[in-house]
Amino acid sequence: MSKVISVKDIEELIRSGSDLKSLPEDAILTPSARDMIRDLEVAGKLNSLGNKPAAVSQQNENKEQIKVNSKSQKSDLEKFFNSKPIQDLKLQICDIGKRLWHRAYVDGNGGNIAIKVAEDLVLCTPTLVSKGFMRPDDMGLVDMEGNQLMGSKKRTSEILMHLQIMKKQPRAIASVHCHPPYATAFAVAGIQPPTCMIPEFEIFCGSVPIAPYRTPGTPEMGKLVADLSENHNTILMANHGVVAWSHLGVEDAYWKMEIIEAYCRTVVVASQLGKQPNTFTTEHLKDLLKTKQNLGIPDPRFGLKECELCDNSDWQPGVSCSVPPKTEQDVQPDPEAETLINAIADRIMNQIKK
Ligand SMILES: [Zn+2]
Repeated sequence: MSKVISVKDIEELIRSGSDLKSLPEDAILTPSARDMIRDLEVAGKLNSLGNKPAAVSQQNENKEQIKVNSKSQKSDLEKFFNSKPIQDLKLQICDIGKRLWHRAYVDGNGGNIAIKVAEDLVLCTPTLVSKGFMRPDDMGLVDMEGNQLMGSKKRTSEILMHLQIMKKQPRAIASVHCHPPYATAFAVAGIQPPTCMIPEFEIFCGSVPIAPYRTPGTPEMGKLVADLSENHNTILMANHGVVAWSHLGVEDAYWKMEIIEAYCRTVVVASQLGKQPNTFTTEHLKDLLKTKQNLGIPDPRFGLKECELCDNSDWQPGVSCSVPPKTEQDVQPDPEAETLINAIADRIMNQIKK
């Protein structure tokens, strides 16, 4: 008889570092196991199952070849900056820029992209150039303080934010910032995107916080965003846009933009259909968070109790939590506290009587 493979079996497979190929050929996957495998593929996690995504492995291989740092001689930096692996990453940044522009996630010369290419060196996009029309020669190389070491075009003024994220969150090897309209609308309204509506969003982005507004490009702005990057890979910037970092590569950071923008758009449209949108239960959310933890994606909700998981209070008009609010009957009196209060009350009464 064929073996039925559940989510639990897949989780076990990941834990043991085995390959998908180790499953029996005639194994039957449950629908959620099939979904999980797809999510793992999307997140590039299949490398632990023996299948590295090209962009990611390329970026890691590049790092292995790198023998320079910000203190290296100019001639060595120049050689490195023009080397084949770095040229390939410059092309990849151009490609991501085009995708951002075609999806209308960037406007004018807005948006910026950064990739960590050595311990203290970051490749980044230029300022005053449309992200849809960049050429590899437009890219710059900066140190972790934002000093430009290579590149003829001036580096983006928002590089400080990317660098502060990379310093605060050592797992961040690439970051993307842009202004996708629906997600930015939430950032302008000061409303955190609601949760418990779409699984992909919960696994790859949610929960998404809002960093308070500061002038773009200032160290204060960078700090406020970086402080949130410890527990969140996707962050809304009030009255500005979105930034996402990835531990896998620049394409993965870009995917977060597609996921949050599609999500915010869906939520806005759903809220116009004349019926309060449904949410899934916190039981379901807990399942998703388990998958998320296995994928190594941070989330401040790991370990929270079910009653603490669903918080849509920011969201208007009126998406309510699928967990009913606590009623007075749910609040059980603490017998020990009650005895203590009675004893104190008795003592006070006795004092008054005297
Ligand atoms: Zn911006």
